[in-house]
Amino acid sequence: MTGMIFADSLSRLGTESAFMVLARAQKLAAQGKDIINLGIGQPDFRTPDHIVEAGIKALRDGHHGYTPANGIPALREAVAADLNARHGVEVNPDNVVVVPGGKPTMFFAVMMFGQPGVEIMYPNPGFPIYESVIRYSGATPVPISLEEKNGFAFSAEDVLSKITDRTRLIIINSPANPTGGVTPKEEIDKLVAGLLDHPHVALMSDEIYSQMLYGGREHVSLLQYPEIRDRLIMLDGWSKTYAMTGWRLGYAVWPDAAVDHVTRLCINDHSCVNAPTQYAGLAALTGPQDAVRDMVAQFDARREVIVRELNTLPGISCTDCGGAFYAFPNITGTGLTAKQAQDRFLDEAGVATVAGTSFGARGEGYLRFSYANSTENILEAMARIRKLL
Ligand code: PLP
Repeated sequence: MTGMIFADSLSRLGTESAFMVLARAQKLAAQGKDIINLGIGQPDFRTPDHIVEAGIKALRDGHHGYTPANGIPALREAVAADLNARHGVEVNPDNVVVVPGGKPTMFFAVMMFGQPGVEIMYPNPGFPIYESVIRYSGATPVPISLEEKNGFAFSAEDVLSKITDRTRLIIINSPANPTGGVTPKEEIDKLVAGLLDHPHVALMSDEIYSQMLYGGREHVSLLQYPEIRDRLIMLDGWSKTYAMTGWRLGYAVWPDAAVDHVTRLCINDHSCVNAPTQYAGLAALTGPQDAVRDMVAQFDARREVIVRELNTLPGISCTDCGGAFYAFPNITGTGLTAKQAQDRFLDEAGVATVAGTSFGARGEGYLRFSYANSTENILEAMARIRKLL
C-alpha cells in the first residue's frame, strides 16, 4: 500500500513484451531448464572488435565529459556520409540528431506531435512502443493493418484513406518488426505522392533494419523523396546493424523545423549520448563493413532454414518476408491462441518466442520467431515444437 498518487497517463503506457519473455526465459534457464531463445530481437553476435577498441580508446583518451546534445560533429558528419553512400542522398549533418538508441527518436517524435484530440497512425502488428507512446501522449492511435496476404507490407491506399484533418504523424517501418515485412517501392512511391495532398501530416520512417534485406530485395529510404524532406523523420541506428544493442546509440535525420525542438527534448531528457559510445559509433561507420556483411549473410542462411522448417510444422505456415531477422508464422492451424502458443512453447518445449498480440491486437494468430540464434539451435527448437504439436 502506498499513499502516492501517480499521474493518470501512466495507466496508458504499454511495454515491450519481448523483455518480459526474456526475463522469464532467463529465470527458467537459471532453474536449470534448457531454453532456446528465439524471443528477443537482438543480433547474437558480438560488437566487432575495432568498434569495441574505439570505445575503450575514447575512454583512455579522456572523452569523459558532456558532448553537444545532438552528438559530436564528427559522428553526425559520418552519419551524413554513410547515408550518402548507402542511399545516394544529401543530408546536412545539422539535421542529424544522435540519441541513446532507436527508441528515443520515436518517443520524441510522438511527444512532439501527440496530444489529446489528434491522431497518429502506426503499423499493427508493429513495434509495440509506437502504440504505447501514442497512447501515453494522449493522442488517438490509428492502426495501419499489415496483412499476411500482402507480405505484411502496408498499402498506401489504406494509409492515405485514413488521413483526417486531425492526423499529425504517420509511422511506417520497413523492413519491419515483428513480421520481417518489406514494403515495395511502388507502395512507398504512392504514399509519398498521396501525402503531397496532406501537407499537415509528418512522417516517421523507422529504418533501423535498413541493412537487413534478403533474396535480392533492396532498401528504399524515405530520404530518397526530396518532396517530403521538410516533414520526414528518418530513424536508423547502430543497434541491429553493428550488434550494438547494449551500447545505446541511434540517430534520426530531422526536418529543419523540428531540429531545435528535438535538441531541447534531448537536453531535457539525457543531455547527450555517453561520449565513448559515440566514438565507437564513429569507428563503426568509418571502419571496415565486412562484419556487417558476414552477419547479414548468416541471417540470410538461417532465414531459409527457419522458414522452411516452420512450413513443415503441423498447423503452422510461414510467409518468407525477406527483411529484419524475424519470421512471423501463422499458427491458427494449431488451435492455439498466440499467447497460449508462446507460453506452451516456452514452458513445455523450452523455446522462447513472442506472441503476435504483443505487437498489437492484429497480431493474433501469429508468433514472432527471431532467427538471431545459431542454425543448430533453430533446428533443435523446431524439433522440440514439432514434438509438442
Ligand atoms: N525500431 C524497431 C522497429 C525495432 O525493432 C527496435 C528494436 O527492437 C527499435 C526501433 C529500437 O532499437 P533500440 O534498441 O536501438 O532502441
